[in-house]
Amino acid sequence: MLELKRALCIFALFKKQSMNSPSKKLITAALPYANGPIHIGHLAGAYLPADIYARYLRLKGEDTLFVCGSDEHGAAITLRAKKEGKKPQEIVNQYHELNKKAFEDFGISFDIFHRTSDPLHHETAQDFFLALNEKGVFEKEEKEQFYDEEFQQFLADRYITGTCPKCHNPGAYGDQCEKCGSSLNPQELIDPVSTLSGNKPILKKTTHWFLPMQEHETWLKEWIEEGVVDSKKQHDPKSWRKHVIGQCKSWIDGGLQARAMTRDLDWGVKVPLKDASNKVLYVWLDAPIGYISATKAWAKKENKDWKAYWQSSETDMVHFIGKDNIVFHCIIFPIILKAHGNYNLPVNVPANEFLNLEGQKLSTSRNWAVWLHEYLADFPEKQDVLRYVLCSIAPETKDSEFTWEDFQTRNNSELVGIYGNFVNRALVLTHKYFDGEIPQAKADLSEYQSIVDSLKQYAQNCNQYLQAYRFRDALVEAMAIARLGNKFLADTEPWKLIKTDEAKVKDILFISLQIAANCAVAFEPFLPDSSKKLKNLLNLKSANWESLGSLEILQSGNIINKAEHLFQKIEDEQISLQVQKLKATEKQTRMEEKKYLPLKEMIQFDDFSKLDLRLGTVTTAEAVKKSNKLLQLDIDLGFEKRTILSGIAKHYTAEEMVGKQVVVVANLAPRKMMGVESQGMVLMAENSEGELNLINTEDSFEPGSNVS
Ligand SMILES: [Zn+2]
Repeated sequence: MLELKRALCIFALFKKQSMNSPSKKLITAALPYANGPIHIGHLAGAYLPADIYARYLRLKGEDTLFVCGSDEHGAAITLRAKKEGKKPQEIVNQYHELNKKAFEDFGISFDIFHRTSDPLHHETAQDFFLALNEKGVFEKEEKEQFYDEEFQQFLADRYITGTCPKCHNPGAYGDQCEKCGSSLNPQELIDPVSTLSGNKPILKKTTHWFLPMQEHETWLKEWIEEGVVDSKKQHDPKSWRKHVIGQCKSWIDGGLQARAMTRDLDWGVKVPLKDASNKVLYVWLDAPIGYISATKAWAKKENKDWKAYWQSSETDMVHFIGKDNIVFHCIIFPIILKAHGNYNLPVNVPANEFLNLEGQKLSTSRNWAVWLHEYLADFPEKQDVLRYVLCSIAPETKDSEFTWEDFQTRNNSELVGIYGNFVNRALVLTHKYFDGEIPQAKADLSEYQSIVDSLKQYAQNCNQYLQAYRFRDALVEAMAIARLGNKFLADTEPWKLIKTDEAKVKDILFISLQIAANCAVAFEPFLPDSSKKLKNLLNLKSANWESLGSLEILQSGNIINKAEHLFQKIEDEQISLQVQKLKATEKQTRMEEKKYLPLKEMIQFDDFSKLDLRLGTVTTAEAVKKSNKLLQLDIDLGFEKRTILSGIAKHYTAEEMVGKQVVVVANLAPRKMMGVESQGMVLMAENSEGELNLINTEDSFEPGSNVS
């Protein structure tokens, strides 16, 4: 029954996808922001699925272009530059190179990794803006905006901080509160402050070019919900992820608003109009146009026509992004593409949800991440292991979680235990029994047909899932091929048969090697490095996607190479090192976050002199029942004895306290804690880690002495 259901489901997928098959594919992956390195959340969110898809299409022989590049504009970059005392260009150069290398190291097979600070991009974005402006797409309007009088400049949203009106976080930015996640506009902030001067900004009038998104609601809704644009079927909404459609719907149903497409900043693509000096394009207008300029740069180098990928009805465009970019790729960018005219809209935007790390949200600012360049330093040449794990847990339909323990298990029991083990045994036995020659098979083995059927089924499933952007499921099918081989060897036990039935062992190893070759093909989009290694071991020069499911990929009589392990076991110590690293980060962040307490309000001398501070000697001390913090102290003030409860039990034992001289706030009104009346307070210093230390005098003084 299950099998039937599965077959029907796959049939339905197949029917859906055979609707149209254009001759070209354009794949874009979100432009990474060039003010920080890439972590596993970025990789799992956009780059890995995009790469798997691109590799799959190429393996099928489809005309595929895969573009990306650094997003190098925006206020976050100028702020970072200012903080580090560098020029914005230096910051973006640094991260462009670092990220470019990380992508290369992880086998992300961009045809081009361009950058938005490139003059070709500036020209492309400016032309685009001018074309839209001439068509009257924008509304020019004067509005009030925050302005820093000392620095004489308008403040971009990120240059303003203040208290979040929703959660009262004092460090919210003008466009967003990172604590509660609310989108804000700067004028909603309570007590706004300019990050340039630290002064309160004033409101001043400035002109901007607005995109009235509300005017595009009707066609957007039809396009997203029904896949129809200009009365033509453009895509099948059922093939879109539910959360993508859901997010678009909620934006549209909530009512779209005009959004400024220009900013008062000096870093970015200059607005190409005479009356717009010191203005640049909104970074979210300029960044997606980066896909077009990347295509242009690639076409120029390869002597191809960039328009064939953007303006031809023969081309399908797919945007791979994380869910935080849905509105930009499904609403704003389509509006400007359509308003410009002649451009294709995406046929799908398979946005991923978020990946978490060990129970917490990934965070660049809190350093809560596994950085790609650091991973490779700790696990050299293990890029495929991370690709495998991240694809296995990809947050395709809901948020998911990376843990080091799961990483180790998937490597040791799946990659090493199943895939690697199977391939290794097939190769080792072929060398042991037949000197590495692929045996001639008679194909009369009883298992032959069922192996062929299973292989074909897995191959077909894998293919259908890849077409449906279900990469997790596709990877499971690829692994099923390795499982099939592993089980086949375990069931047939050629190492026992070799003594009695060599002919049968030839059949078994012939089939096993063909299954290994199938693995090399099926895993290629996911684990390109290990597939390359396996192909080399099998002396398999070329095998395309169409050969998947066949038992005739390898030629009998050919010689294979000596076995080498495709994967290595990851030991507990390596994993605990990573966990310790995260724990150290957590501690570091906690310390940084509470390094200095904010200063209290200024007081006058009279206020201070109201305090009556005295020296006292602790005569007896005992722990307070049911409290792990409090000690009950009897203190001699000379003129009288006091009982004082003090929250120092984690730092001092009762025994240690006896005989100690302490400073007491002697005129503090008594209060009851844990059923005991505390008649004053003992002064202590507290450091950033919450450790406590008693305040003492240098030499012992008589109890009751005044402290001031
Ligand atoms: Zn908030």
